[in-house]
Amino acid sequence: MKPVTRIAPSPTGFLHVGTAHTALYNWLFTRKHGGKFILRIEDTDIKRSDSAMSDVIIESLKWLGLKWDDGPYFQSDKFPIYKKYADLLLEKGKGYFCYCTPEELEERKKEAISQKKTRKYDRKCLDLSDFEKEKLKDRPKAIRFFIPDGKVSFEDGLHNKVERDSQDIEDFVILKSDGTPSYNLACVVDDYELGITNVIRGEDHLVNTFKQILLYKAFGWKPPEFVHHPMILGTDRSKLSKRHGAVSVLDYKKQGILSEALVNFLALLGWSPGNDREIMLRDELIELFSLDRLSLTASVFDIKKLEWMNGEYIKKLGDEELLDRVLNLPEPRTPNPEPREYMLKIVNILKPRMQKLTDFVKFSDYFFEDPTQYESEGVDKYFKIPEVSQRLSLVKDRFSELKEFNVEAIESAVRKLASELGIKAALLIHPIRLALTGKTGGPSLFHIVEILGKEAVIRRLKKALLFLKT
Ligand code: GLU
Repeated sequence: MKPVTRIAPSPTGFLHVGTAHTALYNWLFTRKHGGKFILRIEDTDIKRSDSAMSDVIIESLKWLGLKWDDGPYFQSDKFPIYKKYADLLLEKGKGYFCYCTPEELEERKKEAISQKKTRKYDRKCLDLSDFEKEKLKDRPKAIRFFIPDGKVSFEDGLHNKVERDSQDIEDFVILKSDGTPSYNLACVVDDYELGITNVIRGEDHLVNTFKQILLYKAFGWKPPEFVHHPMILGTDRSKLSKRHGAVSVLDYKKQGILSEALVNFLALLGWSPGNDREIMLRDELIELFSLDRLSLTASVFDIKKLEWMNGEYIKKLGDEELLDRVLNLPEPRTPNPEPREYMLKIVNILKPRMQKLTDFVKFSDYFFEDPTQYESEGVDKYFKIPEVSQRLSLVKDRFSELKEFNVEAIESAVRKLASELGIKAALLIHPIRLALTGKTGGPSLFHIVEILGKEAVIRRLKKALLFLKT
């Protein structure tokens, strides 16, 4: 049987990397087995849901390339259907009206805690007499699900048999007093109606699954197969949250992470192909993915590793493609002077050093304007040598004389001058770099000189010579 899976984000915030991680596992599993992957927006919480967030979630999934085959379905379109199913449970005697107000519930919960009693709902409304019901008839009422005695258990694809005493579960609300369904009811109804065969989601939902299993039983429906994967942790090993930095998928896009790198990175947070391979393209991930290689322990979101991996993906891009992606960055925008050839040359030499698309902007400033200052460490190391002015002046003259201003000619002029002066070429290269770029490090100097061109190079050397005089 071909699997039918879903990702069911709630539009109460941006697409969290945790949800993207779950979406990816569902997507990989479905693609591998030729099934159907559904997008369902769980927007039943009217107060907290925001349609702008649904748009962002949809955009984020598209950016990640996690295409769904069906949907998006919006739960807010189905309120009457959930009500119908809640009423059905009521009719079957598996649910009951609850008239308790939030304040009353809070009060009784506090009392129970102070008396060290269970905090779960005390079933006050379970056996109300007709007289009591009549008294409360003007109050808004919710429907609660009656938890039967016994044990609830199911086979989890990763955790094997999991079991819970139903005593530990309260009679939870299935339909709120405003007529909207609770998450557990809407989720079960939709998973059933959409024919979901496999539910792959984070371990934080294990508590819900016990309730959902009871609902499946009450309706007489066969539950899907469940797999609860470990959560992603922050570097302090607590659940990944905003405290740890960016958690929204689009934040990574803004920072210049490539979607293919983020997908590869997320795949390895809790799954491995069974060897040390780390860089795997989307098709390879699909081929290698299997649920039984999911790890039982949580993985830490290591941003350094993501950046390293992103650098590997950047290296795989052609110059044209990489330049387009850099130019598409919303911020910070790179200058984009004509001709395009000029930009392509810069991309080509910076590519091996870039870990994020935004690094281009950070590393390339001196290609667009003369340095306005020199790194102080470099000044101490290279500009304070007594002979530096004379040496840079000679370099300037030699560069002026060059007929061909290309890497080979530039390199041989510098090396020839060094040997004539009886010094190591590095003693020329470092101060030239500082004079031309203001920096002590960077890509091959001879390439930088060629790209900048004779005119800019001579001008910058003159400026540095002036600086050295002062
Ligand atoms: N709306 C839930 C969430 O975002 C979905 C959980 C589920 O997969 O059932 O966590």
